[in-house]
Amino acid sequence: MKHSQTLIPTLKEVPADAEIKSHQLLVRAGFIRQTASGVYSFLPLGNKVLKKVENIVREEMEKAGAAEMLMPALQPADLWKKTGRWYTFGPELMRINDRHDREFALGATHEEVITNLISDEVKSYKKLPITLFQIQSKYRDEKRPRFGLLRGREFVMKDAYSFHDSFESLDEAYDKMVTAYSTIFERCGLDFRAVIADSGAMGGKDTHEFMVLSEIGEDTIAYSDSSDFAANIEMAPVLVDYRKENEELMSLDKVETPGYKTMQEVSQYLNKPLDKGIKSILFKVDERFVLVLSRGDHEINDIKLKNLYQTTDIELASEQEALQVLGAKVGSLGPINVSNVEVIADNAVEFIVNGYCGANEDDKHFINVNPSRDFQVKNYEDLRFIQEGDPSPDGKGTIRFAKGIEVGHVFKLGQLYADKLGATYLNEQGKQETMIMGCYGIGVSRTLAAIVEQYHDEKGITWPKEISPYDIHLIVVNPKNEEQSRLSDKLYNQLMDQRVSVLYDDRKERPGVKFADSDLIGLPIRITVGKKANEGIVECKLRTTGEQFDLHESEIMSKIQ
Ligand code: ATP
Ligand code: MG
Ligand code: MG
Ligand code: MG
Repeated sequence: MKHSQTLIPTLKEVPADAEIKSHQLLVRAGFIRQTASGVYSFLPLGNKVLKKVENIVREEMEKAGAAEMLMPALQPADLWKKTGRWYTFGPELMRINDRHDREFALGATHEEVITNLISDEVKSYKKLPITLFQIQSKYRDEKRPRFGLLRGREFVMKDAYSFHDSFESLDEAYDKMVTAYSTIFERCGLDFRAVIADSGAMGGKDTHEFMVLSEIGEDTIAYSDSSDFAANIEMAPVLVDYRKENEELMSLDKVETPGYKTMQEVSQYLNKPLDKGIKSILFKVDERFVLVLSRGDHEINDIKLKNLYQTTDIELASEQEALQVLGAKVGSLGPINVSNVEVIADNAVEFIVNGYCGANEDDKHFINVNPSRDFQVKNYEDLRFIQEGDPSPDGKGTIRFAKGIEVGHVFKLGQLYADKLGATYLNEQGKQETMIMGCYGIGVSRTLAAIVEQYHDEKGITWPKEISPYDIHLIVVNPKNEEQSRLSDKLYNQLMDQRVSVLYDDRKERPGVKFADSDLIGLPIRITVGKKANEGIVECKLRTTGEQFDLHESEIMSKIQ
């Protein structure tokens, strides 16, 4: 590609709104431009690198036995109402009405659409297991879109979904995905870790996040300095318990509340509306207390309370004790305002904690303060948030903390969606069964930004070879010089003939401008055709190391391959 024929609007100045390196550099080097808050256009170079990441993802998904498809971004609200997520997803779900006033969502994720589709198309165990994926734009009306491609409102995601007739089969697919994800992020050149994550509002059992280690990451990872153990700090209390009760950590224990299935019902029972902003509820079920904490920025209005496997189950005798536990656990992350705890009934529902469950001095809300979900706490006195320097839960080494960018997330969904959307099949005995599901996401555009976070220096981006938009940056110092322009044109055509991808800076710009742009854009190899063109000699420079050497034109092909 000739620079003169494409669009690479580089900038000298750092854009005022860009706080982090990947955002600054992708804008400055002319890869992306903002169209609206959290919404970006990928310019020709940006599109190239996005497709490179997509192709790595595509290749590894296909290797893992997943078939590519494409689902609509426009999704009927009915499907989301069936699973309840129309009500629980919150304002992050973009909603629109058509001309007949029918409601739609812009796909934030595609569990509803695919489960509905599979329930129509797959009727027999013979077609199971099956894994399908797509690479497509997702829409989430993030509260704080920021950091360029890292947290957008429209962003590219690879989402895969697997369907099974047994939990063993799901386990197999899950393991395959974990392996594929590791290969993908390795091929992207990323320094990452797979960490145990929080199953959160989606329910389900095992879940891992893939975290790119980076100072600007929004997640905190607790990892062992001498083993593979790593977990999202959201799982902190689990970590503590894990040390003692490794076995029980992930065992699900469903607790049914007596009678009350939805917040609406609870609200009716109480004869009072439940405020928006409710984050946590402590239920008393017989003599046991069940703490439900909402996830992230979502409120728990309308969360189906029968999914109480998202809870802590604490055996406590008194209200007093319950308050202490709540204060102790949440409080260890920051002062909790226990006066927020409202005693609203002495029967099924004991307390409602209004507002945030934990806030630190900057009044920042601790998202996902989720003490001990998915397992039973034996001794709540032992429950404390894990700290740096603690022994690692697996007994190997010491816990360290690091910041991470969540680039991928794999999830054993179980039967939640299949149940609600009636995805059933006939088993070998001809009996109707509910399908078992897994889902697997990769933030493709976020991964791209994460790569830039790890690959840059003071002059610009330093693309790893597999991701780089082109392999070679060919620069002609003075295109008006006949010998220089003849040799560079010749090399350009030769490289193209050999299918070496090359960006040819044929512009009539000062050499300084071209070199600065070239450093900013960050292709791995630069070939400069300058003064020695008459001898057939060019200068070769490696972007990452800065290594520089002369080459005769006849040596180029053998050297760069
Ligand atoms: P986060 O915790 O960062 O908000 P998430 O847990 O909500 O992410 P998932 O629902 O797990 O995201 O979606 C799968 C993947 O999509 C994530 O692992 C992440 O890489 C990517 N992703 C999610 N939200 C965004 C966003 N706003 N912009 C870019 N990528 C995103
Ligand atoms: Mg999110
Ligand atoms: Mg997350
Ligand atoms: Mg996630």
